[in-house]
Order: sequence, then structure tokens, then C-alpha cells
Amino acid sequence: MAVIVIPDLCDGCEECLESCPYDAIDMIDGKAWINEKCTLCMACIEACPLEAIISEESDVAAVDHDKDSFSGVWVFAEQRTGRVSTVARELLGEGRKLADETGENLTAVLFGHNMEPSARELVQFGADEVIYVDDPELAQFNDSPYAAVLSSLIIENKPSIVLAGATFMGRSFIPMVATKVEGGLTADCTALGIDSETGDLLQTRPAFGGNIMATIICPDHRPQMATVRPKVFTPSRQDDRRKGEVHIIQGIRDFEVNARTEVLEVVEEVMDTVNLAEADIIVSGGRGMGGPDGFKLVEELAILLDGAMGASRSAVDSGWVPYSHQVGQTGKTVQPRLYIACGISGAVQHLAGMQASEVIVAINKDADAPIFDAATYGLVGDVFQLIPEIIRSVKKARSGA
Ligand SMILES: Cc1cc2nc3c(=O)[nH]c(=O)nc-3n(C[C@H](O)[C@H](O)[C@H](O)COP(=O)(O)OP(=O)(O)OC[C@H]3O[C@@H](n4cnc5c(N)ncnc54)[C@H](O)[C@@H]3O)c2cc1C
Repeated sequence: MAVIVIPDLCDGCEECLESCPYDAIDMIDGKAWINEKCTLCMACIEACPLEAIISEESDVAAVDHDKDSFSGVWVFAEQRTGRVSTVARELLGEGRKLADETGENLTAVLFGHNMEPSARELVQFGADEVIYVDDPELAQFNDSPYAAVLSSLIIENKPSIVLAGATFMGRSFIPMVATKVEGGLTADCTALGIDSETGDLLQTRPAFGGNIMATIICPDHRPQMATVRPKVFTPSRQDDRRKGEVHIIQGIRDFEVNARTEVLEVVEEVMDTVNLAEADIIVSGGRGMGGPDGFKLVEELAILLDGAMGASRSAVDSGWVPYSHQVGQTGKTVQPRLYIACGISGAVQHLAGMQASEVIVAINKDADAPIFDAATYGLVGDVFQLIPEIIRSVKKARSGA
């Protein structure tokens, strides 16, 4: 289920803004827009005088809860710019072992456009079957069509296990799929196995800041879904003699796809010198930095401290800094000695990427911002006053004055 605004009906009256207890509505170009803070409380639907806000039903009603009717191992084979990623071959290698152990089929699922030869190749890399959905709208990654199509395929075919890469793509849309199909999802796994007694998938991942490895099972629900970190498993080798079936679905007309975003252009990012994973000090900026000019302050402080510059996803999505700087669930996971968060609210997805930092300093003008719960030291105030003040103090201390 999702709450959406019908743009043609919205007149920008802002009644919904006041009704929302979660700050989950933005006004963009004079129209209301539901953001990711939405908890589906539906208060805005009641408040809208024009009935421009509606709840969109998912396919959940169609979900089958009889776990014995699920079987098979699926691997979502992600592709970028028409090339199947290495992580897909890593998952096919591991998926093959799981399928052999359970005595079930291994199916690769590929979304793209004009990629039939690559779809056929997935058989040579270990799949018994391939489901290839071909549509121009699937050529580039886009959360909502990908989630809608994969969910429908899962509901229809009922695989017992679904694996995807813990890449920005998998981390972004697989949780949506898990919600729609009411499956269990374990993110960021580093090992997989099958419980010999129950047949349940054993999903191992680091927990408690990486201090222990937890093995998670999903005993009551199917499918069992896991995202797996890239480079954990060895990629499967190509075997030209392997035979399998390739099912091609032309077009996504038959799927309920209500894409709210459109990919206009894919810009290949030039790898710059950002090495967030190894930096001892990271200064990160969020939406509170106000724009690219505000980020110059973040960069100045990062350079002054011989550190690297990080960013929240909001700042990256706004185009203020390149994706290579993003910290969090769909960005990089970092663990520096010092992490300075400037104008970042502290959403769980951001915290997921930096909360293991040794010392966290948060600068935010909102004393109730969740980032302060994770911070070692908190500075309540305006970033545009406090960061220049810190820069001045560091320079002064260094000059010995
Ligand atoms: C599937 C999924 C994956 C995601 N992955 C990530 C991820 O990897 N990384 C990530 O960061 N987010 C991620 N997000 C988004 C996340 O939920 C938040 O929306 C995002 O982190 C918010 O960024 P922000 O803190 O910069 O912006 P906001 O939440 O808008 O916060 C801005 C903060 O700046 C403060 N502020 C404003 N002006 C000033 C000022 N002048 N001085 C001081 N403070 C000021 C405000 O008080 C506020 O707390 C993901 C979301 C989803 C759904």
C-alpha cells in the first residue's frame, strides 16, 4: 500500500501539510508530494478537500501464505547500462549450491531492454531457467517499476528463496518487494546455507556494529529474501554446455506499474578521489547545507582536517554532490575515528552507514533531530555560523595563536 497524490487534482492548498504528523509531505512546484517519511497513517487523505490524495492498494491481497506451496531459488540478475553485473554471477554461483541442496530449480530474473543474448547467457552461468522481462522502461534502474514487476512475478510463481545484490539497486528496491509480497528479508548477508532439518534458508550477516555474526531464519513466511554483499561469493564460471529455458516477457503492460519517477539521463560518474571507506575523518553534509554553495563549507572543513567529504542521500539526490560521497544504506558504510554530520537529520538509512564511527559530532539547528541520539557530541545551531566558527578555531589552533 502507498499514499499518492494525483497531481491534476492537487491545487497546492497545503491543508495536507498541517494534517501530517510525520513531516512526510513536501510541496514541489505547487503540488503536494508524499516523501519517504510517510507511515501510511492516512491523515492527509482525510484532510484533502479535493480528494487529491489516495491510498494505492498493493498486490498484498493476492499473496499466498501457504509456505509449502513455495519452491525454487531465484536470483535477481541486476544489470547496468545493458551489462549484467558481476554480483549476478556471484549470486548464481551461490544460488546453484542452494538449489542443488534443496533439489529445486535455480531461476535468474533479468529486467532490461534488448538484452536477450545476456538473458540466454545466464543459463551458462548456472541458471536452470531465466525469466527475462524486456521493456524500454526497465532499461535503466527505477525503483517503482522494478519493484512492481518483481513483486508480481514472485506472487505468481512463488519461489521459496529470492536473492539480490546488496548494491545500491538491491538495497533500494528489494525492501519494497519484500513488503509487497509479505516475505522476510535479511539485508547485507555474507553467508548463506540451508538448515538440513527444516529446509529454511540460513542467512548470516554482521550484527551489533560488526561485533557478532548473526544467522537469521524466516521460519513462517515465504519467500525468504536476502540481499548479499558483492564480492562475498565467487562468480560462477561460464559453461557453454549447460541447457535451460528462457521465458521472455515482452513489455510491462500486464503489470501494475505506476512509476512516480522517470529516468531522464544516466550520467556516468567519473571516479574521483573519494575514499570514504578508508578516511579517518569524514565531514558530511545534508539537506541543511541548503545547496552546492553550502557544501563548499563542508568541503573546506573536510580538507582542513585532512578528511573526506560525505553526504546524505537527500543532498546527493538534489544533485549537490556526486553519489560517490553518499553515506548510508544505499551509499557507503563508513567507520572513521571522527564523523561530523552537518545539517543531517539522522534518518535510519543514514545512520546505517555511519553509526559505527568512533566519535560522532552532529550540528543541527533542530535540538530534537534524531542524529543527536547517535551523536557523541551535539551542537545545536546554524551550520552557516558553526562551521565557519570551527574552521576559524582549527586554523587558529594550528597557527599557535
Ligand atoms: C530505501 C531507502 C534508502 C535510503 N538510503 C539512504 C542513504 O544511503 N543515505 C542517506 O543519507 N539517506 C538515505 N535514504 C533517505 C533517508 O530516509 C533520508 O531521507 C535522508 O537521509 C535525509 O537526508 P538529510 O538528513 O540530509 O535531510 P533532512 O531529513 O531533510 O534533514 C535536514 C536536516 O538539516 C537540518 N537543518 C536545516 N537547515 C539547517 C541549518 N541552517 N543549520 C543546521 N541544521 C539545519 C534540519 O533541522 C534537518 O534535521 C534512504 C531512503 C530510503 C527509502
